Amino acid sequence: MKKHIASVSFGKDSLAMLLRLLEENKPLDEVVFYDTGMEFNAIYNIRDKVIEMLKDKNIKFTELKPKCNFEYCMFEKPVKVGKPNEHKGYSWCGGRCRWGTMEKISTIEKYCENAYEYVGIAVDEPQRLQKERKGNKLFPLEEWNMTEKDCLSYCYANGFDWVEDGIHLYDILDRVSCWCCANKNLKELKNYYLYLPTYWEKLKQLQSKTDRPFKYNKYTIFDLEEKFKKEKKDGDIR
Ligand code: SF4
Repeated sequence: MKKHIASVSFGKDSLAMLLRLLEENKPLDEVVFYDTGMEFNAIYNIRDKVIEMLKDKNIKFTELKPKCNFEYCMFEKPVKVGKPNEHKGYSWCGGRCRWGTMEKISTIEKYCENAYEYVGIAVDEPQRLQKERKGNKLFPLEEWNMTEKDCLSYCYANGFDWVEDGIHLYDILDRVSCWCCANKNLKELKNYYLYLPTYWEKLKQLQSKTDRPFKYNKYTIFDLEEKFKKEKKDGDIR
């Protein structure tokens, strides 16, 4: 018989899916988490809490990882070897160059190919649902009519939150994905600068290793720091 595996990133949607699958005693043999190595500490804390819950219920937990270290891929990995534009590393991940996501999706899909895979996409993300609707994937959040907002409330109501430096990440970020994700918008990045100084410093360290701008092919993290500093000085701290 095919196994049931929940693919969980420990963001609000996939966590809400997992918690409700457990609450409703749906078939669940295994939980799989793909660790990019660049997750927020809050994600790892939630993972550790969930691992204990799963042990109590005798449900297997599996952690998958990229073939090579994320920072090695960013800065060291030989790319386009033997071609005129040979260089080292893919630089930032995000936008049109989502090299980390491609490996993540293919690794999880391969792992789950002979099982039913529960995927945590909220009902108010119809485009993502349409794109992912294939093969052996199941979408319980859609079945339960749970929106992104419902998922966050459900996680909070079950005692799960994402706190860093005393800040609830979902108060200041649209998505809690890799902390170095180039898909973060300017509002989120400004919130990093204002409220998450540890991660802002980490972004600066990464930027110091690559010339490629972080945002819109225009702003490096250092440019953004100047921009946000000026906005803060001018009293525009939204
Ligand atoms: S969340 Fe962003 S940085 Fe992480 S793998 Fe996906 S696109 Fe890349």
